[in-house]
Amino acid sequence: MRVLVTGGAGFIGSYLCEALLNQGNEVICIDNLITGSLKNIEPLFKKEGFCFIKQDVTNYIHIPGELDFVLHFASPASPKDYLDYPIQTLKVGALGTHKTLGVAKEKGAAYILASTSEVYGDPLVHPQREDYWGNVNPIGPRGVYDEAKRFAEALTMAYHRYHGVNIKIARIFNTYGPRMRPTDGRAIPTFIIQSLKGEPLTVFGDGSQTRSFCYISDMIEGILKLMKSNINEPVNLGNPDEMTILNLAKKIIELTKSKSEITFQPSSIDDPKTRKPDISLAKSYLGWEPKVSLEEGLKKTINWFREELKLEELNE
Ligand code: UDP
Repeated sequence: MRVLVTGGAGFIGSYLCEALLNQGNEVICIDNLITGSLKNIEPLFKKEGFCFIKQDVTNYIHIPGELDFVLHFASPASPKDYLDYPIQTLKVGALGTHKTLGVAKEKGAAYILASTSEVYGDPLVHPQREDYWGNVNPIGPRGVYDEAKRFAEALTMAYHRYHGVNIKIARIFNTYGPRMRPTDGRAIPTFIIQSLKGEPLTVFGDGSQTRSFCYISDMIEGILKLMKSNINEPVNLGNPDEMTILNLAKKIIELTKSKSEITFQPSSIDDPKTRKPDISLAKSYLGWEPKVSLEEGLKKTINWFREELKLEELNE
């Protein structure tokens, strides 16, 4: 296949490019590098069939030749990133989705939208099934991401219904692993860096809010299976193993054998109190469920961050 991946230099996007190339596909990766990084795709330049275009996908996209699949994964995706880039987040979810759907329609390509558990907002239903409509504050600081992705889903469904584009929508829950940016502000990289440096772990609120964390290799497998499926509606992808953020902080201190303490800081606005995917749909239609336990995934991620910190020290 000849595949276009937007956000291909980002965390999930770069693993997708790698996996698709390893399966023998040709991959065109587009990224404007505001939160993505060339470092993530550096090894891919040596592989046959890889090409990189530095572009903002909210502008017209021209890809010569045929395309079989468009994967729209471009967007700031951590709460800190979308607070730093609120307008870009809205634009890439809205205009970027429009442009990429336009490419898919023009080329007769199938399409997959990277959506998010944030479409459920601060959920009043637990765990979250795909038929739950969500509880989102449109004008809160998180609204820029949540509403952009909700609009993106609506537009994607409209292109399916009115233009017959073969679309898939992945509602991606918290995902972690090597290649996350140490400064992206998310709980896992932040806590790991703080533990490795012996600094206090900054738990927001009382830490009783929950999340369910999925290791990157499981997520990539789920996305690839969704690509091959014939489901034209949203599918939750995530690990249902739910835990409190306070317990996550304690687990990371234990696994890094750190002497760090925990400090409690004010909660962020509209921070969802609970989050856990119901993955029955993915299990039955895709035959997919996560395999990597939190402990195993955290150990791999910690080792990777340890090496990153060593490199950083050498460069200082
Ligand atoms: N969090 C925290 N301390 C941090 C970073 C995050 O307590 O330094 C909390 C945050 O308030 C949220 C949870 O960890 O309740 C997950 O946050 P993250 O930014 O990883 O992703 P989210 O699920 O909110 O998109």
